[in-house]
Amino acid sequence: MAAPNLYGSFVKSPVGGLLAKQLGLPRPAHLPRRADRDELVLSPAVVLGDSTGADDIAARLLDWGADVRRRADDTGSVGSLLLVLDDLRRPEDIAGLIQQARAAVKKLQPGGRIITVSRTPDGADPVVDSARGAVEGLLRSLGHEVRRGATANGIQVAPEFPLSAVSVEHALRFFLSARSAFVDGQLLRIDADTGTAPADWNQPLAGRTIVVTGAARGIGEAIARTLAADGADLILVDMMNAGTELSRLATELGGRPVLADVTQERTTAALIAAADGSPIDGVVHNAGITRDKLFANMTQDRWEAVIAVNLRSQLAITRALRDEDALGADYRHVGIASTSGIAGNRGQTNYAASKAGVMAYVDALAGDLAESGGTANAVAPGFIETEMTATMPVVTREVARLLNSLHQGGLPQDVAEAVAFLLSPAAGGIRGETLRVCGQNLVGR
Ligand code: NAD
Repeated sequence: MAAPNLYGSFVKSPVGGLLAKQLGLPRPAHLPRRADRDELVLSPAVVLGDSTGADDIAARLLDWGADVRRRADDTGSVGSLLLVLDDLRRPEDIAGLIQQARAAVKKLQPGGRIITVSRTPDGADPVVDSARGAVEGLLRSLGHEVRRGATANGIQVAPEFPLSAVSVEHALRFFLSARSAFVDGQLLRIDADTGTAPADWNQPLAGRTIVVTGAARGIGEAIARTLAADGADLILVDMMNAGTELSRLATELGGRPVLADVTQERTTAALIAAADGSPIDGVVHNAGITRDKLFANMTQDRWEAVIAVNLRSQLAITRALRDEDALGADYRHVGIASTSGIAGNRGQTNYAASKAGVMAYVDALAGDLAESGGTANAVAPGFIETEMTATMPVVTREVARLLNSLHQGGLPQDVAEAVAFLLSPAAGGIRGETLRVCGQNLVGR
C-alpha cells in the first residue's frame, strides 16, 4: 500500500494550486503511462541534425507513423525533439543546432520527449571526445529545465556501430514511448551491434522464460505483470510467508510460483525444476530488504542480512545457474540497484553498499556474458511508491518525493518498464549499464 501524498494532494486543491503558482512551488504533472498513451511517438516530431544518421532516424520515425519535421519553425507545437549529434568533430559544432533546438524546446508539449543521439567518447581524439562529452551536460541540464512531465534522455552509441543497430532502435522506442515516463536525464550507452528485433514489438518477450525474485508485492509484482503483458513465461519467487500473494499472482499471470529464500543454496535447483527443461532467458534479481541504522549503531547482523539478500544472492544464483548450464544463449541478467547506491544515503551504509555492489557486479558480469550474446545490466530506482517507502518517516518521505525533476515519486510500473526494456532480445547492445528510474533525482548522476 503506497503512503498518502500530502504535498501532491495539496497542490491539486484549488487553494494549494493557486499558492503553488504564486510562490513558484513545484507542481507535479500527470505522467501518462502505457495504458494512457497508445502512440509510440508524440507528434509532431522534430529531428534536428545534418548527418545521414539524422536522415535515417527521421525516416524511421516516419515509418512509425509520426508527423516528422526537420525544422522547429515548421510547427506550432512539438511532441518529440530528437537532437542527432552523431557527427560532432569539435565542441563548437553543437552551436549550429542551438537556435532550432531552442525554438523546439519552447514549443514542447506536456509529457513531450527530448532525445539526444550521439557518440561515445573513445579516447581516439581528445578534441572529438570533448564535443561528444559535452552532449551529456546538455541533455542532463535539459532534463532539469523542461516542465509539465516532459523528459530529456540521451542515447550514446559506440563510434564503430551504425545508428541502425537494433539496440538503438529499441532505445529510441523506449525513450519516445510512455514506457519511460519516470526516466529522465539519463544517458544510455550502446556498445555493440548485437541483439535481435522481436517478431512483434508489442510482445517482445514472447517465448522467453524469465525468473523474477521478490515477486509477491511492490516492484516485483509490477515487474511480473509487465513481463506477462509483454509475453514472457514467468517463474515467480518469494518467501514462504508471501506464499498466498505469490500463488494468486502466478495463477493470474499463468506463471509458476517458487516459494524460496534467495539466500538459500537450494533455491537454484528449485528454479531449474520450475523451468522444466527450458533454458532460463532472464533473471530479474528484485528481492531486496533494508535494515537502516546510522553506521555508528550498525550491527553486524543488520549489515550481513542486507548484503546477503541484495547482493550475495545475485552472485550465488548466477554462478550456480551458469555451472548447471541452465541459461539461454542470449541470457539477460537484470539486477535491481538503487539511487542510494549511487549517491549514498544517511542511515543506509549497508543498503547503499549492497546496491553499489550490484552495479559493479553487472558491469563485470556483462564482460563475461558478452561472448554468448548475453547481457547484464542494473536498474536503479529512485523514490518509488511502495510498502518499502511507505515506512519512511512522513517528512523525509514528502521531501524525497519532490527531489527530482518531475517532482513526484515513481510507480512500481515505471521500474518494471525499464526492466522489460533491458530483458528484450533487442537489448543485446546494452551491456553493464545502470539505468536510473528516478525522475532525475537531484542526488547522484
Ligand atoms: P518490498 O519490500 O515491497 O518487496 C520486496 C519483496 O522481496 C517482498 O515480496 C519480499 O517478501 C521479497 N523478499 C525479501 N527477501 C527475500 C528473500 N530472501 N528471498 C525471496 N524474496 C525475498 O520492496 P520494493 O519496494 O518492491 O523493492 C523491490 C526492489 O527495489 C528491492 O531490491 C529494493 O531494494 C529496490 N528499490 C526500491 C525502491 C523504492 O523506492 N521502493 C527504491 C530503490 C530500490
